[in-house]
Amino acid sequence: MPTTLQSALAKEPDASIDRVLQIAESLSDLPNGSYPCLNPKCRNPCAYPAKGTRGHRPQRFCSRECRLKFERAQSRLAWEVRRLEELRKLPMPTRQGVLLNREISRRQWALDRYPTLEAEVGEPKSPANGNEPR
Ligand SMILES: [Zn+2]
Repeated sequence: MPTTLQSALAKEPDASIDRVLQIAESLSDLPNGSYPCLNPKCRNPCAYPAKGTRGHRPQRFCSRECRLKFERAQSRLAWEVRRLEELRKLPMPTRQGVLLNREISRRQWALDRYPTLEAEVGEPKSPANGNEPR
């Protein structure tokens, strides 16, 4: 018994739109309840709006505060990576080069937790990653 839309459609590649929608609604490993807040330092749940509720956008963050923390951390880490990468142009002993690469890599590793999100409908895009830390 398939458990995801992808595996179900592998068995019924020529399914009609009605059939695809029927499967999509009934079979999914998407949580019916919630996912954690997208702020990687927060574990609060974020719900997908119940069927039939109009005007409720799916939550990405549990709160405005978490969204702001996410945007600030993303912007700051991107700034720090760019700032440290500029130093690579300078001559330096191997020991410093190794340390520099490590510090850039650590920030990129953290930055993986702050992906660029699609703008939500009706929400202004967040400003381009700031040039200065905020
Ligand atoms: Zn949160």
